[in-house]
Amino acid sequence: MTQEPIYKRVLLKCSGEALLGDQQYGIDVETVSRIAQDIKEAHDMGVEVCVVVGGGNIFRGVSGTAQGMDQANADYMGMLATVMNALALQNAIEKVGMDSRVLSAIPMSAVCEPYIRRRAERHLEKGRIVIFAAGTGNPFFTTDTAAALRAAEMKCNALVKGTNVDGVYDKDPRTNPDAVRFDSLSHLDVLAKDLKVMDAAAISLARENNIPILVFSIQEKGSFAKVLKKDGCFTEVV
Ligand code: UDP
Repeated sequence: MTQEPIYKRVLLKCSGEALLGDQQYGIDVETVSRIAQDIKEAHDMGVEVCVVVGGGNIFRGVSGTAQGMDQANADYMGMLATVMNALALQNAIEKVGMDSRVLSAIPMSAVCEPYIRRRAERHLEKGRIVIFAAGTGNPFFTTDTAAALRAAEMKCNALVKGTNVDGVYDKDPRTNPDAVRFDSLSHLDVLAKDLKVMDAAAISLARENNIPILVFSIQEKGSFAKVLKKDGCFTEVV
């Protein structure tokens, strides 16, 4: 077990569901504050942190198409949902005393900065927490793919995926008590076994760019910093 963080720069993928707390819908401010504290703990160890937030706690494209909406329209709504989450997270991050910038893939000049790669890099170098909003800016994608894309662009040493489960299991641990957690997998294993880590586009992008993915439970306080020290429960995709 190493005590020092082994990464210089990481991208945290925080799903919209992680912000729900005990609610069925929307943003639980207390949960967002706790995640902001976890990010601070990691940042205080000397790690540059950028974040991609999902939008599933507010709107997902699939729920729109299920009701007969055009997919592109529904996906744009999903991307707008991620901007709301990004602003909530920025607010919480600033409350714990860190500087933060929201960069949106869909320009929204009255609300946040547009995504410009060099600007994002500069913010990170200055120690700011950069939150990437609006996914890739394109319909038919997910925020997991956006996370892999931004991790590659920012030359992150790892993509750290915060979920509600403490790693990747051979079957759903919530319904199968005998499910076994993998300590380590390859990107190809994930694709071949069709494991629900991230969608195939995200896994392929991470694989092509040699970006390891660390899957951990964001619901446990302090677990983000622990994972960065390779401590605690998580699955590593390398
Ligand atoms: N979305 C999109 N393009 C992107 C990222 C997201 O169209 O590049 C839309 C898509 O409809 C998706 C929604 O935004 O369902 C919310 O993102 P996601 O489902 O990935 O959020 P999470 O599951 O992480 O909460």
